[in-house]
Amino acid sequence: MSSTVIYTHPVCLDHDTGEYHPECADRIRAINHILDHEEFMYVPREEAPPATVEQILRAHPQGHYDRVMAAVPADGLFEIDGDTMLSPRSGEAALRSAGGACAAVDEVATGRARNVFVATRPPGHHAERERPMGFCLFSNAAIAALHARDAHGFKRVAVVDFDVHHGNGTQDVLWDKPGTFYASTHQADAFPYTGTPEETGGEGGAVVVNVPLPAGTGPEAFRAAYTDIILPRLAAFAPDFLILSAGFDAHAADPMAHFRLQVGDFAWLTRQLLDIAKAHAGRRVVSLLEGGYDTRALAASVAAHIRVLMEG
Ligand SMILES: [Zn+2]
Repeated sequence: MSSTVIYTHPVCLDHDTGEYHPECADRIRAINHILDHEEFMYVPREEAPPATVEQILRAHPQGHYDRVMAAVPADGLFEIDGDTMLSPRSGEAALRSAGGACAAVDEVATGRARNVFVATRPPGHHAERERPMGFCLFSNAAIAALHARDAHGFKRVAVVDFDVHHGNGTQDVLWDKPGTFYASTHQADAFPYTGTPEETGGEGGAVVVNVPLPAGTGPEAFRAAYTDIILPRLAAFAPDFLILSAGFDAHAADPMAHFRLQVGDFAWLTRQLLDIAKAHAGRRVVSLLEGGYDTRALAASVAAHIRVLMEG
């Protein structure tokens, strides 16, 4: 068994969001470049397959799927939401982001890998059931969670989202889904302006744990949010499968938000989450790339994250 596998696809470089857009192909190029280093040489790479319609429809109504795919332009760019752009290959990239997440779940569920990092774009955690937004088209983490639950029979599937923005889309999709858990740290009073502690999940649905933190939050308060609140709630949920919405825009260098984390903080958090996966989930972890817009900080953070994943 390979301990860690990386899923990606070249079409993710062809999802063109226009000049000066922060969610750009250079993000994946920077990650690919750092993963060329010899320490990652023996980590297997797999091509992310496109999601099936059935996989997408666990999270979104048919109308959302049809609207996104019909909006893909034959040439040029189309703005499907205020800051979410589509180009001719965006439909395929979005399907491979969601499909890569599901294939990663398959890989881990069947024991072919201990964990998988999915380095694809567009990201997913802002895409609500019926609304593409915030650079996201399909709700990849929620789609992966529902695939783990419905295709593989896992009973307690958790998503932990450490992107600096609240994953309103993941929360929206999982809200009324039994057997799921969603926890997030994020910058308060920032896009998408959701994720208050009062949002705790629908009756009989997901357990939702939101920990908004103020702009300027540094390593100590960030780690305390996990140690004091999220990790105990996650351990109490006792997930049998763990999915990470791995955004790295809480890094101090990131231009899109105002947290002050360093690379070592992402490694620390990854270790804490893997320890819970080891205790409850047979070490099963799938990690999905979300945000991270300073390409140097992103690449260094992803490398640190994968180094810990490789330890298992
Ligand atoms: Zn973000």
